[in-house]
Amino acid sequence: MESKLPNVGTTIFTVMSALATEHKAINLSQGFPDFDMPEALVRLTGEAMQKGYNQYSPMAGWMPLRESIAAKIQDLHGASVNPDTEITITPGGTYAIYTAFTAVLRPGDEVIVFEPAYDSYIPNIEVNGAVAVRIPLEFPTYRINWEEVRACITPRTRMIALNTPHNPTGSILRDHDIEQLRQIVEEFDLLIMSDEVYEHLIYDGQPHRSMLRYEDLRQRAFVCFSFGKAYHCTGWKMGYCVAPPTFTVEFRKIHQFNCFSCFTPAQVALAEHLKDSAEYKSISGFYESKRNYFGQLMQQTRFKPLPSYGSYFQLYYFNHLSDLSDKDFSIWLTKEHKVACIPVSAFYQESIDNGVVRFCFAKKEETLERAVERLVKVY
Ligand code: GLN
Repeated sequence: MESKLPNVGTTIFTVMSALATEHKAINLSQGFPDFDMPEALVRLTGEAMQKGYNQYSPMAGWMPLRESIAAKIQDLHGASVNPDTEITITPGGTYAIYTAFTAVLRPGDEVIVFEPAYDSYIPNIEVNGAVAVRIPLEFPTYRINWEEVRACITPRTRMIALNTPHNPTGSILRDHDIEQLRQIVEEFDLLIMSDEVYEHLIYDGQPHRSMLRYEDLRQRAFVCFSFGKAYHCTGWKMGYCVAPPTFTVEFRKIHQFNCFSCFTPAQVALAEHLKDSAEYKSISGFYESKRNYFGQLMQQTRFKPLPSYGSYFQLYYFNHLSDLSDKDFSIWLTKEHKVACIPVSAFYQESIDNGVVRFCFAKKEETLERAVERLVKVY
């Protein structure tokens, strides 16, 4: 069969996690916690099932959950979002991103994508016949060069894809970026796909600059979120998309004939759990401690860190330790030292290799300690 995506192979997360399993390595590659999700949420989900919430929920999502999300957005960003017309519950953040692109893009449309880019964006764009216009983030700060963005805009540019906090680099959008973004989207009438799945994983007292904070940006944006990241349950595949009513209508046209609706018991449970604002406000501190602990342990190794301002990832230089490409180094590290990581070149179409790899620190302290005991031996 002629492939619609001839250049796409198996995602790096599957490849590295499989290699980690095969070689019994500690898996700091694919991003997922190895500790338990909140007990209260497990209990609420069990109760929902026992109470009989086991049939389809409404296509757009369980209304009390959408109301809890709207209250959270009001609390965190001061924005009034209509739960009926602007919020859709999705099976995960990646699905929300795919659906947003698919709702908007026509063949030949151009989307600005910053590399390194989460690996689903470009295939999502291309499967819709649209074109990803790739712009590298500046190395090693991984900041956006807005002059370059302006230079890449054409009459076909339809959308700009953003991700803050950023996977894989842990960079975040700053006030300067928001100012530039506001000018550019207005001047060239662009839409925004904003991947904010790591909204709660942001450190050093920085605010999460969600598109939802800025009325002008919010009116142009599909903003995609993940419960899996917030509540340590990536296997739940639960997320949501917030977008203006006319965008949401189009989003739901795709969603209703793809997934239709999501796992009801989890929605019933999340509706209740999200009311605990102290809990979602505590997530950044919880992960900041993990980042700091991992960073402190890693000082015993010869790996050199790049800063992580958000997400549960931290990049490290290895190129003073090895001449291998980052892909070969990641394979070698997994096989020889039994710690798996992700080569950052996997997030570039043209395999730009800056000699850095990504480690996930969403792990128990003992897991991080055991991993670092092994990484100390790399020199
Ligand atoms: N978002 C996770 C990561 O970056 C992986 C998700 C997946 O494997 N699809 O590691």
